[in-house]
Amino acid sequence: MEFSTLCVHGCSKKYDTTGSVSVPIFQSATFAHPGVGLSTGFDYSRSQNPTREYLEQTVSKLEGGLDALAFSSGMAAITTLMELFSPGDHIIATDDLYGGSHRLFSHISNKNGLMFDLVDTTDVQNIEVRLRPETKAVFIETPTNPMMHVTDIAAVSKLCKDNNLMLIVDNTFLTPYFQKPLLLGADVVLHSGTKYLGGHNDTLAGFLVVSDTGLSERLRFLYKTTGSCLSPFDSWLLIRGIKTLAVRLDRQQKTAFQIAEWLSKQNRIKAVHYPGLPSHPGYEISKKQTSGFGGMLSFETDSKETAHLLLERVSLIQYAESLGGVESLITYPMLQTHADIPQELREARGIGDCLLRLSVGLESADDLIEDLRQALYGGNGNV
Ligand SMILES: *Cc1c(COP(=O)(O)O)cnc(C)c1O
Repeated sequence: MEFSTLCVHGCSKKYDTTGSVSVPIFQSATFAHPGVGLSTGFDYSRSQNPTREYLEQTVSKLEGGLDALAFSSGMAAITTLMELFSPGDHIIATDDLYGGSHRLFSHISNKNGLMFDLVDTTDVQNIEVRLRPETKAVFIETPTNPMMHVTDIAAVSKLCKDNNLMLIVDNTFLTPYFQKPLLLGADVVLHSGTKYLGGHNDTLAGFLVVSDTGLSERLRFLYKTTGSCLSPFDSWLLIRGIKTLAVRLDRQQKTAFQIAEWLSKQNRIKAVHYPGLPSHPGYEISKKQTSGFGGMLSFETDSKETAHLLLERVSLIQYAESLGGVESLITYPMLQTHADIPQELREARGIGDCLLRLSVGLESADDLIEDLRQALYGGNGNV
């Protein structure tokens, strides 16, 4: 079955006999037992709920996995994932990491005894030289947030398999529509479902997807124990969001490409980071491992003043955190998503006061470009 059909029909599981086309929201905390020692398959919603199960099986199918777990947010998913590790374990992660993951690793996982090395994973050798006997996992984001660096998943997976390491891939930016890390050798795929999977800037959610029974069982145990599960109603919103995932991403990618090209021609814009531009250093790897470049891009203005002007003057595009929804959002990583990363580290990674990140929504490309143009050059806009 093709991806777009899977998005609409999901896992196709039926939970009632009414013929309801939309999956019912089973707003129940608990489920009555038909007899002693018997269960309908559902006992208590922290462990499982039919609406959430439907969503999980759908996401698992989309990623080509065996099991998916739906969490109350992306960070809840990553926090639970970290419980797989023990004090003394060492993890190598991409240096240009989502700010929240960085905060979790450096403030909480670290306190719990996990050790991290953050490296530029676009070069596999940088991972190899940091391997230690205690290394247990490699955690990558590709493309990265916000610099759009691309890591070769299959190459990192080979290194991980040779060294018995777990490979974790944050697939939030591209979603399984454009990139399927499990099929490239990853062990765990994670998502902030808040972004493209939900797609409407209205719900928080997170996912872990695996293709191994043992790993699925260990994560299920942690999941029901720590309790960071997605509610039935939010599960339903995600099911609904996913129905249009393929259509949304096709359009968002097309518009992102047009905007990236337009920005590249503006003299007030010094650099555009979009993996779909042949000038992007990750272009070739992207073509090899993904079926599309996505709807996210970042760019650098000629000055801090221009960046501020742009943020203050955009009107259709909203100056807000988050990404992947139908409304276009512009973010100032140094003040928002990456504010907790020490300044020196942040600037060394290119996240300075001229860097802006744009999540392209479903508005018309012409309207979005017009909004950027008037924000950059003023009302009547003749440059
Ligand atoms: C937003 C985001 C997260 C965290 O997800 P939440 O749903 O906000 O908790 C993790 N990784 C990436 C790449 C993200 O963009």
